[in-house]
Amino acid sequence: MRYVSTRGSAPSLDFGDVLLVGLATDGGLYVPSEVPSLPDDWDVERPYAELAAAIMWPYVEGCIDAETFAALVADSYRSFEHPDVVPMRQLEPGLFLAELFWGPTLAFKDVALQLVGRLFDEELRRRGDRVTVVGATSGDTGSAAIEALRDRVAVDCFILHPNGRVSEVQRRQMTTVLADNVFNLAVDGTFDDCQDLVKAMFADEAFRNRFHLSAVNSINFARVLAQIVYFVTAAAWVRRRIGVDSPVSFVVPTGNFGNVYAGHLARRAGLPVGQLVVASNANDILPRLFTTGTMAQTGVVATLSPSMDIQVSSNLERLLWELHGGDGAAVDVLMRRFREHGTVTLDPEQWRSLSSGFAAYRADDSACLDIMARYYRRHDVLVDPHTAVGLSAAEQHGYSPERPLVVLATAHPAKFADAVAQATGVRPALPARLGNLLERAERYERVANDLQSVEAFVLTHARVGR
Ligand SMILES: *Cc1c(COP(=O)(O)O)cnc(C)c1O
Repeated sequence: MRYVSTRGSAPSLDFGDVLLVGLATDGGLYVPSEVPSLPDDWDVERPYAELAAAIMWPYVEGCIDAETFAALVADSYRSFEHPDVVPMRQLEPGLFLAELFWGPTLAFKDVALQLVGRLFDEELRRRGDRVTVVGATSGDTGSAAIEALRDRVAVDCFILHPNGRVSEVQRRQMTTVLADNVFNLAVDGTFDDCQDLVKAMFADEAFRNRFHLSAVNSINFARVLAQIVYFVTAAAWVRRRIGVDSPVSFVVPTGNFGNVYAGHLARRAGLPVGQLVVASNANDILPRLFTTGTMAQTGVVATLSPSMDIQVSSNLERLLWELHGGDGAAVDVLMRRFREHGTVTLDPEQWRSLSSGFAAYRADDSACLDIMARYYRRHDVLVDPHTAVGLSAAEQHGYSPERPLVVLATAHPAKFADAVAQATGVRPALPARLGNLLERAERYERVANDLQSVEAFVLTHARVGR
């Protein structure tokens, strides 16, 4: 399998290179040059890790041997507390939750990052190389990345989070990891600022080469790849459960568009998916794009679902590349225009094909609190605010036993306990395995929102490039 850049001018790479470089040198994102079909027996019940290895194999073949890969996948999902890895729950006839939060840091990012950390180790060992991972987080990616990369000998890990804009549990899950290869930077700015700083470090070619920069945020295709799997297991479960073979639709609480893009690839691989429903909080650039055909940036507002407080959804570029028929030069022009003017309008043809497979809805904080309270009363289930945005989108979109809808539950309620308590009066307890998280010592560095300060910090702390 070859991977090509969405901007068309960076060299095409194999999986091992794509894994380690993340962002392409032309500023684009790597996409697979073709989408392999799902295994024929995708809907047969079997252990999660087994199906996962089978689905992902065509994407990694040639870079790792099959046995090693299967073992890494199996090992990754042993770190999950639930034996199903992604357990399913029926809420109402036609409405289901896929619980993606049983990994070590209580959010869906673990599903991909537990595997990506192990793939990094394997690939770097094979090459005798080391890398410096730099990443931006709105809260959940950072902790999942740190948990996946801590103490790995060939990796130093620098994670930028927006100072004061992540929840206490999120912050502590990052800052209480005192491993020698982990560095937390609290940037005075928003998540988009953090993301821009990371992109700027990658664009600084001398810096990038000297420190062997590598990315594990959702622009890394390996993460998207691992996320394809649970769309498949969830659709298979629903179809077995209700005995239908109608397509299954998904609601995806969305920020950077990585998760929903994985659902799109699952559909292209042959999974019978109805609609992919994008659920946004008050940061509604995507619902506005899907209803008007214009993508227009506004300021980021802080909400109860901080992991979705994003205005520029990086992974959308992968879909835009498809809409442009794989014309990297056209995507390059489009993205530059968007950078410059903060707005861009799709032509009607592209907008129509975008709208045919996707729907998008917005839910603000008050809707989200109402949902959390209602589902607690009616179903005795506590959902986190991101999942609540998803449930609101599900209600706006509609569902029935003939048109089943799966809402991806992207975080454990205890990760956002304040919001859950505000809505329901019940404070969800942290799972026992997180232990004394709230008492442990923290370590992080507060830095200004500028490239020089961040690069200077990396320069003094990274072990490669000195
Ligand atoms: C990261 C995250 C999201 C957004 O996912 P994207 O892939 O960035 O769209 C939603 N919910 C939670 C809890 C997250 O951590």
